[in-house]
Amino acid sequence: MSEPGKLAYKIKIGVLAMQGDFDAHCKTVEDAGGYPFLVRTPQEIVSADGLILPGGESTTIGKLLVRYGLDKALKEAHSSGTPVYGTCAGMILLAKRIESGAERGGQTTLGLMDITVARNAFGRQVDSFESDILVPEIDEKEPFRAVFIRAPIITEAGPSVNILGCVQDKIVVARQGNLLVSAFHPELTNDGRMHRYFLNEIVRPSLTER
Ligand code: GLN
Repeated sequence: MSEPGKLAYKIKIGVLAMQGDFDAHCKTVEDAGGYPFLVRTPQEIVSADGLILPGGESTTIGKLLVRYGLDKALKEAHSSGTPVYGTCAGMILLAKRIESGAERGGQTTLGLMDITVARNAFGRQVDSFESDILVPEIDEKEPFRAVFIRAPIITEAGPSVNILGCVQDKIVVARQGNLLVSAFHPELTNDGRMHRYFLNEIVRPSLTER
C-alpha cells in the first residue's frame, strides 16, 4: 500500500449519497484516478480523504443531513482538514449565507464557505441551460461545457474566496482554501477536469498537511 501524499496512492473520495446524481460523481472520480465510495453515515465521512456534495434539492438534503447526524460530521471533517467539493445544491449547503426570499425558508446549511448564494438564480423559465465557461485556474484554453440545472449563483464572496469562473457576469465557480464549489454539474459531461483539479490540487496536497 502506498502512503497518502504519494502519487500511486488512490485518493478516497466520499460522495454524499442522500439524493441527486451521486453515481455520476463516483464514475467521474474513478475516471480521475480516485477511489470513490458512497457516504450515508457519519462513520463513513471519517475515512474520506475528500468529500463531494452533489446536486439535488438543497432543502431536502439539508434536512437529511441533520436527521442522520451528517451535518455535524461534515463540519468536524472539514475542521480537521478534509477538503469538500460542492456542486449546485452542494454549493448552497457549503455557503455561510443564503439570500433572503421565499427560497430561504429555514434552510440548513453547513456554513463553511464565506459566500452568499442565491438559489435558482437563472429564473424558473430557464431552469436548465448549457454554456461554455472558462476556468483559467484549471484550464487556460479549453472552456467547460457547463450544465446548469436550476442553478444557484454566488452573489457575494469574502476576501479569502478565489473566484474561478463566471457566466453572464455571475460567479459560478469558486475556491476558498480546501473548499471548492461549482454551480454547474461537471459529472454530467464526461469532463473530468474539475474532479482532477479537486483530487490533485486540493485533496492530495492536504493529505501531507493533516
Ligand atoms: N435548485 C436546487 C436547490 O436550490 C439546486 C439544483 C441542483 O442541484 N441542480 O437546491
